[in-house]
Amino acid sequence: MKKFKVGIIGATGMVGQRFAQLLESHPWFDVVTLAASPRSAGLKYKDAVGERWCMPTPMPKNMEDIVILDASADIAKIAAAVDFVFCAVDMPKDETKALEEAYAKAECPVISNNSAHRFTPDVPMLVPELNDEHATVIPFQQARLGTKRGFLAVKSNCSLQSYVPALYPLSKFGVKDVLVCTYQAISGAGKTFETWPEMIDNVIPYIGGEEEKSEKEPLKIWGKIEDGKIICADSPSFTAQCIRVPASNGHLAAVFVRFENKPAKEEILSIWKNFKGVSQVLELPSAPKQFLHYFEEDNMPQTKLHRDLEGGMAVSIGRLREDNQYDYKFVCLSHNTLRGAAGGAVLMAEQLCAQGYMD
Ligand code: NAP
Repeated sequence: MKKFKVGIIGATGMVGQRFAQLLESHPWFDVVTLAASPRSAGLKYKDAVGERWCMPTPMPKNMEDIVILDASADIAKIAAAVDFVFCAVDMPKDETKALEEAYAKAECPVISNNSAHRFTPDVPMLVPELNDEHATVIPFQQARLGTKRGFLAVKSNCSLQSYVPALYPLSKFGVKDVLVCTYQAISGAGKTFETWPEMIDNVIPYIGGEEEKSEKEPLKIWGKIEDGKIICADSPSFTAQCIRVPASNGHLAAVFVRFENKPAKEEILSIWKNFKGVSQVLELPSAPKQFLHYFEEDNMPQTKLHRDLEGGMAVSIGRLREDNQYDYKFVCLSHNTLRGAAGGAVLMAEQLCAQGYMD
């Protein structure tokens, strides 16, 4: 694989820092450009981030002295310097939408962590192991945008990166009704315990906009392609409650599920154990070897113990048992800024590179 030059838009933020960390010695991607708001533009990366650096490893040496560009004012310069960009910015939705389209129209593909384009019908929302074929709408999107190589591809919300991977492989049984309660870490809000001390010894029963995303976004992943657009599925039916808990990283979910045709517990366990997606088949650099790990122990998975499994890219599942209202219940866990954000986006970019969309 040739090396691709990449940029990180929103490099100073929580997800942007994860991108920097994950891409430090990536075999296919070289970070050559960093961008953020006008507040950071003109400063070296190390000075723009300063005390905000919150990754477990130091800032990559080869990025410390890169001078931050202005994500909006420097689009042409950035697009000329890179093969594609990762984007994770905290901006109003309409501004994010316009910014991302401007990069695509400057012939710079955008791999986005933002929610702005998640329901644009010709923009794929990819979990490579589940719906990689949705990438086939990209040429239709390029025709709409009038671009040769510029396009947008997005990641789904971090909350659903544990339960959708567990449920999607069970589709042949007709996943019908799903009730999910998520227990979400504070990094999902771009925060640490230093910047959000009110979360120590606390639980907050509300995360703005999260329940709607957790209920609606899975339906795009289950969607089918018609005339170059992804048509959202109308089932399964999801209902969600999303709760902020005092964990630094890792979103856990308690799931209840009803099927059209109830499978045996052993069938579910066997499907999870043997499940492979395109990431495993193509042996993409960031892919976990085993996507879904099932734990037999009653007290697992645990947020602190299992969020980093396979570099934070695997999904941990446990406590599968029959329920007296639904067919089954279980718990599952994924790392929200790795699989759920930057790591999932890097994996998506690897899929798109391997399949020729970045040529
Ligand atoms: P964050 O820590 O608040 O960082 C926000 C980033 O956006 C910073 O780099 C900031 O630059 C930049 N920014 C703010 N205003 C801007 C502007 N007007 N123009 C250009 N850049 C601007 O937020 P985050 O947690 O990384 O989240 C970023 C995005 O990823 C959001 O859309 C979020 O919903 C999404 N996301 C987050 C997670 C997660 O687990 N945290 C998971 C999935 C998706 P300055 O430093 O210069 O202000």
